[in-house]
Amino acid sequence: RLTAPARRPCRRARAGLGTGKPPWLRQRAPQGDRYEFLSDSLRDLKLNTVCEEAKCPNVGECWNGKSGTATIMLLGDTCTRGCQFCAVNTDRTPEPADPEEPENTARAIAEWGISYVVLTSVDRDDMPDGGSEHFARTVRTLKALRPETLVECLTPDFRGDMDAVANVARSGLDVYAHNVETVERMQRLVRDSRAGYQQSFDVLTHAKAVAPGILTKTSMMLGLGEQDEEVEQTIRDLRAADVDVVTFGQYLQPTPLHLSVKQWVTPEKFDHWRKFSEDLGFRYVASGPLVRSSYKAGEFYIEAMLKEDRKAGRRPSFTPQKLSADELLGLVEMPALEVAPRDYKRALKEAEAQRLVEEAAAEMADRGVDAFEELKAMAMDGGYGQLPAMKDAARRAREEHPLPSVVLRGDTDKLLTPGRGFVELARETLPYRAPDERLSDWKEVTRTASSAACAEGAKLDGTELDDLLHSQSARCMDCGTPYCQATSHSEASAATHHPSKSGCPLGNKIPEWNALVHQGRWREALDRLLETNNFPEFTGRVCPAPCEGACTLGIIEDPVSIKSIECTIIDMGFEKGWMVPRPPARRTGRSVAVVGSGPAGLAAADELNKAGHSVTVYERDDRIGGLMMYGVPNMKADKEHVVQRRVDLMSQEGILFVTGAHVGRDPRFGLDVLRREHDTLLLSTGATRPRDLPAEGRAGPGVHFAMEFLRSNTKSLLDSGLSDGRYINAEGKKVVVIGGGDTGTDCIGTALRHKCASLVNFELLPQQPAVRDGAGNPWPQYPRTFKVDYGHAEAHERDGADPRSYEVLTKRFTRDEATGALTGIDTVRVKWLHDGPPGTRPRMEEIEGSEEHWECDLCFLAMGFLGPEETVADALGVELDERSNFKATYGEFATTVDGVFTAGDCRRGQSLVVWAIAEGRGAARAIDDWLWRNGGGQETVSQELPRARRTYKVDYGKVDYGNAGGPQTGSNGNARNRGTAERV
Ligand code: SF4
Ligand code: SF4
Repeated sequence: RLTAPARRPCRRARAGLGTGKPPWLRQRAPQGDRYEFLSDSLRDLKLNTVCEEAKCPNVGECWNGKSGTATIMLLGDTCTRGCQFCAVNTDRTPEPADPEEPENTARAIAEWGISYVVLTSVDRDDMPDGGSEHFARTVRTLKALRPETLVECLTPDFRGDMDAVANVARSGLDVYAHNVETVERMQRLVRDSRAGYQQSFDVLTHAKAVAPGILTKTSMMLGLGEQDEEVEQTIRDLRAADVDVVTFGQYLQPTPLHLSVKQWVTPEKFDHWRKFSEDLGFRYVASGPLVRSSYKAGEFYIEAMLKEDRKAGRRPSFTPQKLSADELLGLVEMPALEVAPRDYKRALKEAEAQRLVEEAAAEMADRGVDAFEELKAMAMDGGYGQLPAMKDAARRAREEHPLPSVVLRGDTDKLLTPGRGFVELARETLPYRAPDERLSDWKEVTRTASSAACAEGAKLDGTELDDLLHSQSARCMDCGTPYCQATSHSEASAATHHPSKSGCPLGNKIPEWNALVHQGRWREALDRLLETNNFPEFTGRVCPAPCEGACTLGIIEDPVSIKSIECTIIDMGFEKGWMVPRPPARRTGRSVAVVGSGPAGLAAADELNKAGHSVTVYERDDRIGGLMMYGVPNMKADKEHVVQRRVDLMSQEGILFVTGAHVGRDPRFGLDVLRREHDTLLLSTGATRPRDLPAEGRAGPGVHFAMEFLRSNTKSLLDSGLSDGRYINAEGKKVVVIGGGDTGTDCIGTALRHKCASLVNFELLPQQPAVRDGAGNPWPQYPRTFKVDYGHAEAHERDGADPRSYEVLTKRFTRDEATGALTGIDTVRVKWLHDGPPGTRPRMEEIEGSEEHWECDLCFLAMGFLGPEETVADALGVELDERSNFKATYGEFATTVDGVFTAGDCRRGQSLVVWAIAEGRGAARAIDDWLWRNGGGQETVSQELPRARRTYKVDYGKVDYGNAGGPQTGSNGNARNRGTAERV
């Protein structure tokens, strides 16, 4: 008979861990009627619980009893992360989430009648919002069905996406839980590399910040090898982060492949941590070997705490989200379930409105009519030609029955019915300063709510603002189908005349902010505006407002003053200090170079930075902003207090700006260097090649492209208040501006401020009609009608006439034979003939005998732009399209070179600032996708901003550009000359 040799004790046994669990960790198998009922019910509804998945030792205790508790796992049972302590299945691409899960889960919980439920989930990094809306929808539905159920959400960190955290926190839950799991030193070992100590703290603090009144809760596992002093520090950190509830439990190794238990923490030690935490001031502490982040005994106390808070009126002090009408109606079908009566009434009312709309649509469909076409036909039948007469009649009626001159909130509620304000009030926009006053300085022409950007005394005060905005926002009809905000999602569709292609390219939620402004809820209006527009202070000043062209009210009346409302919302945001830097909570470790700092590049940089990528913006000029800095003059958008303010904010949020970086030309910023240093590249260089006029005598002094004039003026103004003389001075000159549009108007405004001797503006096309051409330019397209912009009004004020002369063709520039100086321009009048087949462009014909000579010694060409300069395209090998723009499909924004993207005017061709922002946002989405597809985010890095190897600082000094007309000397003259980039 063989005798086995005596075995050496294993390492665990030598460490005193033994081979089995200590007695205090042994539990009886779960059983009981209530347990069986919940278990069956969950299986029927295909719901998962952590209680069962994680084989929680407390499941029997929690599920039994009259009003037990359960922890429901949303979003499936497969996690995209691989933490070393967790046995849940992992996969990079789990099954898509069940879209009906939120409603099913909420119904089941409501039916069970349990008083406290915990909703949790696996990590779903594959979902754009990390599954946060899934959580939020479940809570909203459950709260609508059974408001008294207390809900705790134990969430992932959503990759540090604070919008996702806020969405869950504001859903109506009672407790926001997120587990920090272990001490700081052991995070890397225990958790997936995408998680992190700081990120977990950010989640907890942000949840409370956006939803004050909720409780925050976290849990730690002990026995993983942590030191006592580390546990102490973590507890202190949690208290400093104002976490209310903390729990401690023993870590149990789920399978031999997972982290092994380093220590069986004794009940006495758990007791020690409970006392330690309580002494620090946590509102509730659960600490014991079998304590898990959720379990009945703990929740009993939390429930009591919540009820006590509610009784004492301490919670909640925020407005939880509500279900939409559709969501509610789906639920009221359910028998024997109580629905909050107020919400129910709201749902019924909205359902009735929806029914009427559907009936009308069905009737129209029966008659074979398209509702939109019917509306358009109605507009055209009424005849745009009658619009002036209709407006006149309305104005007379208002004059006969005037409203009080000062219309304040409260008073107006008696007079103005939101949605019908247009009946009682005419359209008004933010007022301009008087032309003679504004011609004497370079401050903004518009009176706004911005104290910094406005000329002295021009800022709209509280009463004026209230009067204007409260009443004008009531003119919005809150159209069910708001054409103002309809946007196009593809280039092809944008080219058609479909209604959804004509409103705001950003899809700004206009009726929503109109309603919020009318109610004086400015902060919420700002949040709503910033959801879709990165720079409303730009568009609110320079956008030609296609939204207003598409406003339904425009069919019969003047449209709603959307742009003025937008501008005021953001100016109020800055005035009230709501616009503060919001750097991303975490960095992905991926890096993007943006070449060009116009609105497209800035919008993309802003979005990518928010997503956690490290962004560096390269600008060849000495200041950031592109067109917004040097293309648009100061009187339309203040450079220091509007453009630079935004750049500063973005810089504080972590975006690096490098000026004086001529990418593709300067070897320091060679494309090979950028590609080496960054994961991907966005080209947003703008369309900067101006269209020339190759007429006789063009070459020589006195003829400039408009941008040379505008840029040099703004630069000199910012550098020195025009005292350096480094700009094209129109003072005393006979100026001719060739070409209309906004750039032509800006040349007019600038030349007038220089005190030019005379001013003429040639337009090749005929004067636009006063009202739309219903056939060729129907609503809701942007109306091509005659407009008087600020420059035209100023010229009229000074010279007594509009400077524009239409259907003028420049034949030659005349010059002094001896000096070559420009002396004048020969022109001929043209007419436009529509004699080709339908659909073809009209033909231009010169009118015999209409030749004229115009005296001129300074001429500006403002005839548009042809596309981007070739330097970058050549260097990168990027293909161009047939219009010589960078070739890339709208929506994808990818050039023909992998990892190189493009957006804005260099892709689209010369366009509006609002389109540039829309393109920048789209490109950011495409780049983010590309980055995740090509390697995903790397390890979370600290919040410390990436170190710049080349950063430049621009010192603007304190430029006094209050006066127009030439060199100025301010109180700090020397400082003003330091407007150049300095390397730091
Ligand atoms: S960005 Fe332009 S189009 Fe959009 S809402 Fe503002 S003014 Fe209108
Ligand atoms: S289309 Fe005009 S009236 Fe209708 S929601 Fe938009 S702004 Fe208001």
